[in-house]
Amino acid sequence: MNISQFITESEALAEEIVAQRRDFHRHPELGFQEHRTAGVVADAMNGLGLKVRTGVAETGVIALLEGKRPNPTILLRFDMDALPIQEETGASYTSTVDGVMHACGHDGHTAIGMTVAKLLHSHRQDLPGTIKFVFQPAEEGLNGAERMVEEGVLLDPVPDYTLSMHLWNDKPVGWIGITPGPAMAGSERLEIEITGRGGHAASPHQAVDPVLAAAQVICALQSVVSRNLDPCQAAVVSVTQVRAGDAFNVIPSKALLKGTIRTFGGEVRDLVLQRVKEIAGGVAQAMGCEAQVKVERLTPPVVNNRALATKLQSLVKRVYPETTVDTEEVAMGSEDMAFMMEDIPGCYMFVGSSNPAKGLDASHHNPHFDFDEVVLPRAAALMAVSAWMLLEGD
Ligand SMILES: [Zn+2]
Ligand SMILES: [Zn+2]
Repeated sequence: MNISQFITESEALAEEIVAQRRDFHRHPELGFQEHRTAGVVADAMNGLGLKVRTGVAETGVIALLEGKRPNPTILLRFDMDALPIQEETGASYTSTVDGVMHACGHDGHTAIGMTVAKLLHSHRQDLPGTIKFVFQPAEEGLNGAERMVEEGVLLDPVPDYTLSMHLWNDKPVGWIGITPGPAMAGSERLEIEITGRGGHAASPHQAVDPVLAAAQVICALQSVVSRNLDPCQAAVVSVTQVRAGDAFNVIPSKALLKGTIRTFGGEVRDLVLQRVKEIAGGVAQAMGCEAQVKVERLTPPVVNNRALATKLQSLVKRVYPETTVDTEEVAMGSEDMAFMMEDIPGCYMFVGSSNPAKGLDASHHNPHFDFDEVVLPRAAALMAVSAWMLLEGD
């Protein structure tokens, strides 16, 4: 079959996909609470006659589309959750839930996934393999993907590849980012507890001040990236929370720092974690305090399979000649799709979605976030075309 056909067929569904996205946008649901969204998705997948499993990781939906032969199998993943943000877009389809908003574009992802299912289903008699549609809950910091892996999303059948995407408001519609190798950073939660000795603020010599030590630690941590790391490598160390003391005239006994570390894993991660621990411990000790450092891994990095990414780059250039294909887009944000990509070769694509001329260019997680909906049918066609090509083994 001529895969470019999907572009025409997807454009014909433009009105429907926009309406679907706006419906999800009006009814945003936080992670693991996507009951309405999952219900709409499951109804649509059942309506197409797919093999549907619901309640995976609370609200996840898995739908299997079987083609003319069983293998290979491709997993397509779309996330469904919203964020605890009060919407300020003023859009006609604005959120109807106070304090909850689709500010990352997952409403679009869910609508795109449903459209991809429709497109591929209508050609199922020619489909050269199996598609496993995964509608995932709780991507925003809650690791819904990890829960789905624990509950068997990668089994029965085991996918040969994974494909996933994010609408990307940092770039305009017409831009697509496919990066071979590391594409999004892994994320760790950092906690440093500094213990000194409390006392009267007017008698600092009788106390050991953990606030001063915390301040020094924060400053010294800035040297990890600037002085220890190879300048051609990437990492982030951000201290984002500082808590100490309850009174203006008391030197507290403890100070607590929290933050995050982002790296692409490997030696850089080892180095950054080692230096953070050494610096926090050493500086605190120099100030007469003690530091306890806890680092908890939240998500591994998203690493695209190089061969797969290269294949998709050339496919996209062939099918969409007017599209800008960026082969170097890398984000220090994290993405729990990494859990599904750890053992299965996969590719995670960024799909430019902003349109500054229409004022649709606020960044992700901003109360004004919105994207240009013309991207929706294009992204659906892109996923359908990519999946088809991978099944064919083109
Ligand atoms: Zn997000
Ligand atoms: Zn997102």
